[in-house]
Amino acid sequence: MLIHRINKSVRIVFIAVALLFPTYSFCWGVIGHRVVAQIAQDHLTRKAKKELKTLLGRQKLAEWANWPDFIKSDTTETWKHTSKWHYVNLPGNLSKEEFITELKKLPGENLYTQILEMKKQVADHSLTLEQRKTALIFLVHLIGDLHQPLHVGREEDLGGNKIKVTWFDKPANLHSVWDDLLVNFQQYSYTEYSTILDITGKEQTKEWQDSPLEDWFYDSYLLANKIYALTPDGAKLSYRYNYIFKDDLDHQLVKGGLRLAHVLNEVLK
Ligand SMILES: [Zn+2]
Repeated sequence: MLIHRINKSVRIVFIAVALLFPTYSFCWGVIGHRVVAQIAQDHLTRKAKKELKTLLGRQKLAEWANWPDFIKSDTTETWKHTSKWHYVNLPGNLSKEEFITELKKLPGENLYTQILEMKKQVADHSLTLEQRKTALIFLVHLIGDLHQPLHVGREEDLGGNKIKVTWFDKPANLHSVWDDLLVNFQQYSYTEYSTILDITGKEQTKEWQDSPLEDWFYDSYLLANKIYALTPDGAKLSYRYNYIFKDDLDHQLVKGGLRLAHVLNEVLK
């Protein structure tokens, strides 16, 4: 009886704490980012590999891919300004022209402006090696985030963070399903997952890589619209959700990796 009562009060405390601090997530989880980074690493030109060695030594891109999330826990103000770099928010169901116009008009620093900025900084040899290394790490991370469709989501629900769902009966939000839960459900390590996905033919690779950056954003946005349409607030998600979205998820990860390679081959000179 006593144990029962203690358990009950502990539960109440947990619930109270959870209500006080709702946990929003804002990024592909660790595996998603590493898959994108590893696929990119395997598609670098010789020149890019050499330049990468100057910046990272023998460390792999996957090792650094999640660092821009880890620094959110830094208690100094050093990285606070980067918290808005991980996403853009736009209204739903815009035409492609409207979408690109709105994307370019977004105020302040965001995922779009900072991918452009980090590309510039990595290629800028007048900067210090340390500055270029930091820009490189952000570039790897942000191109990953760009391919998590809910990072090109809607303002009113914070990219799906406010849409409450259950994932195999456990409370979750839509954003976290796409950051982690659906990726983790595949039960691959990041090296297994990147190996499995990295089978794209030359023509398809070229098509994905050669389209402009704004089209990459629009791709993610279209998928976000589909996700919003098929995942209402309160949805109970499990096997069927994986069945519906598994191909979309895989495409986003492999597109992210191949496009990141393309960008790195361009700026690592
Ligand atoms: Zn992020």
